[in-house]
Order: sequence, then structure tokens, then C-alpha cells
Amino acid sequence: MSEFDLIRRYFTRSAPGAVLGVGDDAALLRVGEGMELAVSSDMLVSGTHFFPDAEPESLGHKTLAVNLSDLAAMGAVPRWATLALSLPSVDDAWLEKFSRGFFALASQYAVDLVGGDTTRGPLNLSVTIMGEVPPGRALRRDGARQNDDIWVSGTLGDAALALAHLQGHIVLEQQVFAASSARLHKPCPRVELGLALRGIASSAIDVSDGLLADLGHILERSQTGAEIRFEALPGSPELHACASPSLVQRCMLAGGDDYELCFTASPGQRARIEEISAQLALPLTRIGMITGGRGCTVYENGQVMQIKELGYEHFAR
Ligand code: ADP
Ligand code: MG
Repeated sequence: MSEFDLIRRYFTRSAPGAVLGVGDDAALLRVGEGMELAVSSDMLVSGTHFFPDAEPESLGHKTLAVNLSDLAAMGAVPRWATLALSLPSVDDAWLEKFSRGFFALASQYAVDLVGGDTTRGPLNLSVTIMGEVPPGRALRRDGARQNDDIWVSGTLGDAALALAHLQGHIVLEQQVFAASSARLHKPCPRVELGLALRGIASSAIDVSDGLLADLGHILERSQTGAEIRFEALPGSPELHACASPSLVQRCMLAGGDDYELCFTASPGQRARIEEISAQLALPLTRIGMITGGRGCTVYENGQVMQIKELGYEHFAR
């Protein structure tokens, strides 16, 4: 199959939200009147972000999900994506499943795939996602203020629990593994939450590298500090039942790949945030507060916790 047949067969769909989609030298997009364009890229590399034999349909989902998560964390409405693929060979069964997973999630959010690039090489999946946000309404990392509450959506650490099993550090029961590996392989981007938090959250980030690492980015950009209560962190019953205390700590504070949102808001917004939680049927948990200091201190029952691992960092060590 030629490169062009491959693109036509697996990656060309109608793009009702674009002026011109796949097939020309560039796509043509029209941003809504007076809107700002939010743009973000995320690359998934075989052997680094996923196992080489990863199930292709989930991989297609995750390739787009991690990008949607970035726009969710900006409070932007996702509209368009491009996909740059490098593939070791043309494997029809693999491409069929990969594209199915990708487009299933794309259509859920009315995101049009409007272009990309396809080459031969080590398996590498790179998406650029584009979305819209009204001027001045994006959820940025630099807006956290002293005394703001710190919130997190959903539960933390499930993806890292599945990874610990896959890496042979622990052995999970079948059912527990199924639940946690769904979090790892088919993350659910919190797009609706990001949109609901416009005008409410003072800052936001998605948790892709671990809570402390990602909250650290908010603190750095906002030039503030934070205090977190470890016992307040939302963990799934599976995590608490299956992992040792030290593994629970590592999964929740430093485990990546959860794709929950961590955000800050003034205490005056608590009631509104509880309403959003109920509307979205998504737990939103207050885990601490922003301080005038620097860095993040984690308390467990009032005592300062000693943290060894901050989170995933590609160039560490
Ligand atoms: P060019 O050689 O001008 O870069 P290509 O042959 O790479 O063009 O791509 C042809 C068309 O197919 C372009 O519109 C490009 O955006 C699109 N395209 C290529 N690869 C992909 C892909 N993996 N997914 C979606 N569109 C793609
Ligand atoms: Mg090209």
C-alpha cells in the first residue's frame, strides 16, 4: 500500500468543522469570531510512553486523549487535530484498530482530523490539537493566589498502580488490574470539567507526570507555595486495598498518566465547584491550599511527609 492509500484509507474522514481537511498541502481552519486559538502537541513514543505491543485501539484513544487533556486543562473547546505518524511497517490490522480508537474519541468531542504526516520509522505518534477559548478566559498555570484551595478531579494513582503490575513490582488480582489498566490505557480527558471551570478556577493543569510534579508547575508559574493533606487525596478503593502504604504514596503523589485536572480556586468558589462536581458526576476533592511560601509541603496527619520521588521526568538522572 502506498503512503497515500494508507492516509486515504485510515486517516481521511469528513471534517465538517474545517474549511479544508486532509488532502491538500495544508488544512484551512476558521477560528470562531473573536476566539483565541489554543494549540498543544503531545508525542507518544514506543518503549517510552507505551509498550511496543500495546493494544492498538486503546493506543489510538490514548494518543488523542492525552492531547484533549491539555486543552481541557486550558479550558478550551477542542476543534481540530493533526496526526504525525511514524510506523515501522504497514500493518493493516494495527492501523484499522488504531484509527478506530482515535476516531471514536475524536467524534465524541467533534474534533476533526485535518492533516498530519506519515513516514516509515520507529513507532511514534504525535498529535497537535487545536481548540478555541474566548479571550482572557483560558485556565492558565500562573493564576494561583495565596489562600486559594487546591482541587483535584477523580482519583489519583490508578494508572500508576496498573503500571506497577505491568512492570512486575506487584501482582494485582484480575479484576483490580482490569479497572486500573483501563485508567492507564484509556484515559478519560476532563474536557467538560475544564470548560465548566472557566471563570471559577484561578489556575489549572492536567496530571500527566504526577501530582507533585504537575502542581509544582502551577506553583512555579504562579510564584506561590502549597500545602497538601495526604489523607485528603482521592484514591480508588482498589488502590488502597492492593498497594502497600509506600506504593500508595508513590502512585498518588508521583504516579503519572492519570489525566485528572488539578486546579486552584478561591474559597468563595467552593459551593459552585460542588455544583459542577454533581452536574458532571465527577468527584472534585479539596486537597490543600496555596501559600505565600515556595514549593509544596505534604502533611500526613499534621506531620510533614518526606517525599522521595517527585514524578516522571524524561531527562532525570
Ligand atoms: P506533503 O507531502 O505535502 O507534506 P503528504 O503527502 O505528507 O503531503 O500528506 C498528504 C495529505 O495527507 C496532507 O493533507 C496531510 O496533512 C495528510 N496526512 C498525512 N499523514 C496523515 C495522517 N497520519 N493523518 C491525517 N492526515 C495525514
Ligand atoms: Mg508530509
